[in-house]
Amino acid sequence: MIDRETLRQPASNCTNQEKIMSIETPTRTAHLDHFIDGQYSPSESGQCFETTNPATGEVLATVALGSAEDVDRAVKAARQAFDQGPWPRMSVRERCQILRRMGDLILERREELARAETLDTGKPIGESLEGDIPRAALNFHFFSEFAASYHEECYTVSAQERHLAVREPAGVAGLITPWNLPLYLATWKIAPCLAMGNTCVVKPAEWTPYTAFLLAELAAAAGLPPGVLNVVQGMGAGGAGEALTRHPGVDCISFTGETTTGKAIMGAAAPTLKKLSFELGGKGANIIFADARLEEAVATAVRAAYRNQGEICLAGSRLFVEEAVFEQVVSRLVEQVKSIRVGDPLDPRTQMGAIISREQMEKIEGYIELGKKEGRLLAGGHRLPELGAGNFIAPALFTGIDNSSRFCQEEIFGPVLPVIPFRDEQEAVRLANDTPYGLSASLWSADGDRCHRVSRQLKTGIVWVNCWFARDLRTPFGGQKASGIGREGGRYSLEFFSEAKTICYRYSS
Ligand code: NAD
Repeated sequence: MIDRETLRQPASNCTNQEKIMSIETPTRTAHLDHFIDGQYSPSESGQCFETTNPATGEVLATVALGSAEDVDRAVKAARQAFDQGPWPRMSVRERCQILRRMGDLILERREELARAETLDTGKPIGESLEGDIPRAALNFHFFSEFAASYHEECYTVSAQERHLAVREPAGVAGLITPWNLPLYLATWKIAPCLAMGNTCVVKPAEWTPYTAFLLAELAAAAGLPPGVLNVVQGMGAGGAGEALTRHPGVDCISFTGETTTGKAIMGAAAPTLKKLSFELGGKGANIIFADARLEEAVATAVRAAYRNQGEICLAGSRLFVEEAVFEQVVSRLVEQVKSIRVGDPLDPRTQMGAIISREQMEKIEGYIELGKKEGRLLAGGHRLPELGAGNFIAPALFTGIDNSSRFCQEEIFGPVLPVIPFRDEQEAVRLANDTPYGLSASLWSADGDRCHRVSRQLKTGIVWVNCWFARDLRTPFGGQKASGIGREGGRYSLEFFSEAKTICYRYSS
């Protein structure tokens, strides 16, 4: 076990930091360094940036500001670990034992990690404790089992000739992650990447560096060899993220974030021809037919729109309701949206926390103003100064906005929901598909044939029928259209993080 106190030495010219980070005493400013070649280390430049707690506006941490030099150090460490270290040469079983241990350690430190995640993101502590952190552990537990049982293909042509299709690790992977589900999504990439024998450099979102910092320590404690998992903190465009995408020593990039960022990464990665996997934005349709179990459909629509402050790529961010039940559904929604408890993310009773940043809150407010001009605001939409200096907004509900509006076409990534009536199945499908995005959709109906018909017509990577957010980690996850390229989950992740090779054996008879 690495001594945590020596790990957390602050960089020399960073100011305003305490030597020891303590999640238990969040009023003290933490200091978060990079993790390169098995050691925490400051930036070459000694520069740092600050993160703030979205719920209070106070400085939460000073963070090493990664540059191209830091990325280069990390890539070299990952390359050395890949080319000469034990990790790719271990048996799958040995690797998976270490990954399993990482999952166990996450669960052992669940409360500390949950607290860090909530302080960084502003999400309710209940969601961190029961959702994000156990899911991060599950990512390791799942992939350690799945990879161990993953089998290769072998085709026997004759007694003398066999063709073996093997999968070999891709090499050094760059893993770039967003702020909305920080540890959950970082581990969703790290676990399959490492299980296949790769090494990696992780670039967490600059808004939420905390849990990736803590994970590095857990990885070392679990027995991961130095250089296998490196974390470089810092910015995206012009910073560590972009440097990673341009680095010739990086073989593949797995990215989750905004669609515009995906386009920039594709351009930056082109000269070095990297393999890319993109999980991008969404504008999910949630369709309620008149024959649906309305109570359940409405309660789930509320969760789908406002969970995690609406900052979920899979959010049901456009609600389509069949005309016959429109008024009834809207009046139930108004009641439920008004009763959502917004407040201190560390209070276990809180249902909706703070928006990640002032910029994001102002962006959301811009859309709320647009919604007020084009439609009717039925609930929320205002700031909540009584909750202090944090980024709190009352969840907003609208009717009367047309699906062609920017409000319904662009990803807002906040607690706002437009409700739109539809006449029939055909119109519902047309409206749902009328967006540049294609990540997810839900539909609610008691008619099995219709559920099947509609789900086949929706242009999305996942369709939930009479449910939302249910996942089996073996199934493919990802988006169509502007929502992504490639799929994650089960064998899809293992295949992205590996190269297929055919070996043909000819035996003499
Ligand atoms: P973002 O694209 O702004 O940033 C994501 C990451 O990319 C960050 O680490 C950032 O520093 C880095 N980055 C930014 N510009 C870069 C560049 N030019 N080169 C390299 N790296 C760069 O996204 P965000 O605001 O952190 O996250 C919200 C977005 O993520 C939303 O659009 C949401 O829908 C999407 N998302 C998608 C999924 C999914 O599975 N499809 C899951 C979660 C979030």
